[in-house]
Amino acid sequence: MLIKEPTIVRINESVRISAKIVLSELYNRRKYPQELWYEFPAEYECYITRHSNAFVTALLFLAMRHNDKVEVEGVLSVKFFNGVNKAKDIFIKWWPHWFGETEIIPQKLTTERIKNHPQEVGCCFSGGVDSFYSLYRHFGEREPDSRARVSHGLFALIGPPFSWKKPELYDRYFKKNKIELEKFGINLTSAKSNVFDFLREWDWLYGHGPATISTVLLLENFFSRFLIPSTYRKGHSFRIGTNIETDYLFSTENIEFAHDGFEASRAEKTFAISEWEATYPLLNVCLGRTDDMQNCGKCVKCMRTMIFLELKNKLNKYLMFPKTLNFSDISKWDLPTEYLRSLTEGLIEVTVQHKRDDIAECLRVALKRSRSKPIKILRYFQKMSIVIKKLVDQYRY
Ligand SMILES: [Zn+2]
Repeated sequence: MLIKEPTIVRINESVRISAKIVLSELYNRRKYPQELWYEFPAEYECYITRHSNAFVTALLFLAMRHNDKVEVEGVLSVKFFNGVNKAKDIFIKWWPHWFGETEIIPQKLTTERIKNHPQEVGCCFSGGVDSFYSLYRHFGEREPDSRARVSHGLFALIGPPFSWKKPELYDRYFKKNKIELEKFGINLTSAKSNVFDFLREWDWLYGHGPATISTVLLLENFFSRFLIPSTYRKGHSFRIGTNIETDYLFSTENIEFAHDGFEASRAEKTFAISEWEATYPLLNVCLGRTDDMQNCGKCVKCMRTMIFLELKNKLNKYLMFPKTLNFSDISKWDLPTEYLRSLTEGLIEVTVQHKRDDIAECLRVALKRSRSKPIKILRYFQKMSIVIKKLVDQYRY
């Protein structure tokens, strides 16, 4: 794999930085774009780095997948180079079924520090519980270290669930979040990229790591510190694309990455942000992503969040959720996996602690129902019908 030197162009109100990617016949099994690009609002043009750290980060999984070396016609940070080599070894250890050895060969290494760096602090922002929790903890007086206070959220349209395939919908959603957060003094900025086209082989749970970090690395001349909100609590064995063990290894001499919020459970995070009015018009956790970007109120993420908000008597303040919990929906909640069933057991514990036995009882009904024989048989037939439909479609086309 060869990563050419990045180039920058203005496109209307945006600035695009891109690099040509030359792939050998090793990669012929799939069709990849010949260029990896990122776009930011034009006012960030003077802050975009010409270094190639972002492109190496984005393409690392792909090169490791093919046991290929990465030649870089550009400059890498020494700190990044040392870190990414450590991250690579960790990924190989975690996911040996995906990844083999790779060698990163830069044309030039540098330890250069940017003069007059603006020292801004950023945080990934999607409108969900994790990103709101990191904003809440590190915004304003709540963050005792003034140099670590978040000034900017970054809303990145770089792959699912924020796909660039519905640009009008997400532009509208972004603008709404930007306007509301500005009232609290938080700047929200956006980024777009085709990085997902190089990460399609992996579930987004894994691909979002290199996609997000590579996007932020291009703004290393603007952010001195950047928070990646954690999805899981410390000690959770689930290893995904962003995590406490590797995020910081992508830091350079100019930007430091921190995996944030791993000390708190989902319940603790939701309880904390329910004290902050900034979340009332915006909190969005839904898997459904309806066309008006409301929370559906029925999926696992919606239900769990609504229960936590109800325990604090705050659900009626949230404009993107149904105003009340539907107890019948909770009792009928389908829990097909062991993960969902253990999550429900945890929910029962929290509801009992808050003396809401009415909710706990509905959850117990759902749990019992999900483990019953008729439901297991029904699930089996549903699964089979999907497999048969797929086979019929293949045969037809
Ligand atoms: Zn939902």
